[in-house]
This record gives sequence, structure tokens and C-alpha cells, in this order.
Amino acid sequence: MSIDYDLHSHSRASDGTLTPTELVRRARAQGVGALALTDHDVTDGLAEAAREAAALGLQLVPGVEVSVTWNHQTVHIVGLNIDPGEPALAAGLARLQEFRQWRCEEIARRLEKRGIGGALEGARALATGSVVSRTHFARFLVAQGRAESVRDVFKRYLVHGKPGHVPGQWAPLEEAVGWIRGSGGQAVLAHPARYRLTATRRRQLAGEFQECGGEGIEVVSGSHSRDDVANMAQLARRIGLYASRGSDYHGPEQPYIELGRLPPLPEGCQPIWESPGWGSAVCADSRAVPSPSLGLA
Ligand code: AMP
Ligand code: MN
Ligand code: MN
Ligand code: MN
Repeated sequence: MSIDYDLHSHSRASDGTLTPTELVRRARAQGVGALALTDHDVTDGLAEAAREAAALGLQLVPGVEVSVTWNHQTVHIVGLNIDPGEPALAAGLARLQEFRQWRCEEIARRLEKRGIGGALEGARALATGSVVSRTHFARFLVAQGRAESVRDVFKRYLVHGKPGHVPGQWAPLEEAVGWIRGSGGQAVLAHPARYRLTATRRRQLAGEFQECGGEGIEVVSGSHSRDDVANMAQLARRIGLYASRGSDYHGPEQPYIELGRLPPLPEGCQPIWESPGWGSAVCADSRAVPSPSLGLA
């Protein structure tokens, strides 16, 4: 029987709400056979997740989700089978966390100007790891009764053109892919259908990502519609990227996204876990059969 792969998830080390241990237990209960923990710009949860996964006999794929600025737009690159101790990756992530520190102060200053005080302390108090994310601001504003839901806060305060929006300077695409690959990992373009891009620009992004050494694209994602899946499968096949599958789970508060509860990769996709570079320590048992090469037009 094939393994159920979920290659995108978050813990309390970034903006998820479960501890790494709870996350791995839940993945196991949901029938996930291989789980990637991919916190935003941080790898602090990986050691704990790996310990629990080993105890339960689940494959833990060490990962990270790197924030990138591409053409003035934020995009996310998931790294799989990374070595969190690799110096260039660790230094790159540390730089992103410095930017996050400044950005959270700046978000708070901008909200303050609009009469919303205490947001910095509020968001920091809700952060459970070293990363303060916009999600923590959103949860704080909901708790303050400023909005009905996290989604509502993003729409009214935190996205482009809204009072708490701070234009980002995250990692350049080439550097992010370089850190991931340099640490022995594979780079995957996260939730590609979610970006506000025309089909042409999305192809351009995927092409540049591939030129930088990117190998995979999330075809199946918790945030993709059925049409998105079909379109991203087509894009993957067209330019010859491996396909990945990940829920982008953040915790049980988002009941519409569950670990492992995802459709299979569409026919004709080449799974990233069958790529020649896939971490041998992670899935040695499933590599007895040589993977087909990606000889695609
Ligand atoms: P940050 O990396 O701090 O800018 O925060 C990005 C995170 O905010 C994403 O990973 C999501 O978890 C969350 N997020 C982004 N946009 C939305 C939205 N429209 N509604 C709810 N959560 C969002
Ligand atoms: Mn998130
Ligand atoms: Mn993301
Ligand atoms: Mn994510």
C-alpha cells in the first residue's frame, strides 16, 4: 500500500496551534504515513517532531517554509529533507527572523496610528515560538473584538492597501532555493494557485523558480480548489516539475483543513517523493523501485 504523504504543516514553532508532538500524533491518527513539518522561516520544532515520529513509526520529513519576495510579491518556498543545522540555511533563516522582528514592530506602529494600541504586546503574547506572524496579530485583533475572524482581520487590516500592511523584503527567490538545496533539501513552490497572478505570470514564477534549482510544485494543497489542482498539475507536467501534496495544516481551529485529508496527485504527475534526490534517510523503504525520469516536454 502506498504511503499517505502530507508535506506541508505548521506547529507552535511558527503560527500553528499544536505542539510538534501533538501535530505528529494527530497526523498518525489521520493515517498520514509521512509528514513534513514546514514552519515559517524556522526549524525549531523539528527535533521534537522527529522524536515523536520515531516513537510512533511515522516518517518525519524535516522541512521549512521560506518567505520570499518575488517581483514585489510574497511567495512561499517549502524546503523538504533539509538539514536545519546547515550554516547557510540557518543564517538565511536568522536574517528572515530579524526582518520579522522589525516588521512586527512596524505593523504595531501602523495599527497604533489607526487607534489600535497594544498590538505588539498582544501579538507577542500569542506567539508560541520565536516567530511572530501576521496570524498572531490577527488572533489578537479577533480577541479584542475588532473583527469576527482571522480571515476578516487579514481582509480589513493586514493585506496590501490596508492600515497594518507592511511591504516586505523577504529572501530573494534564488537565495531561498539555494539555502534549501545547499542543505541537501528539495525546493517546492508552495500553494501556487493562491498567489494573485495571471496564468502567464505564474508560469514565469514557476520557470524562474526552476532555473534557480527548484524541483517541485504543490499540485495538491489544502488551499487549492479542484480546478486549481488540475491547472497546477498541467503546469507541473508542462515545465517538468515534480508534484507535491500538502495540507498546510495550522491546527484544529481551521476545521476545513485536516492533516492528510487531501485528494491524491492527479494522473501523470511525478511525485516529489519519487524524485532521485528525495532524502534517503526519510523514505529508504519506498525507493526500491527506481523512479521514472522526468523526461517531459
Ligand atoms: P506572515 O508570514 O507573518 O506574513 O503570515 C502569513 C500567514 O498568515 C500565512 O502563512 C497564513 O497562515 C496566514 N494568512 C495569510 N493570509 C491569510 C488570510 N487571508 N486569512 C487567514 N490567514 C491568512
Ligand atoms: Mn501560516
Ligand atoms: Mn504559505
Ligand atoms: Mn504554510
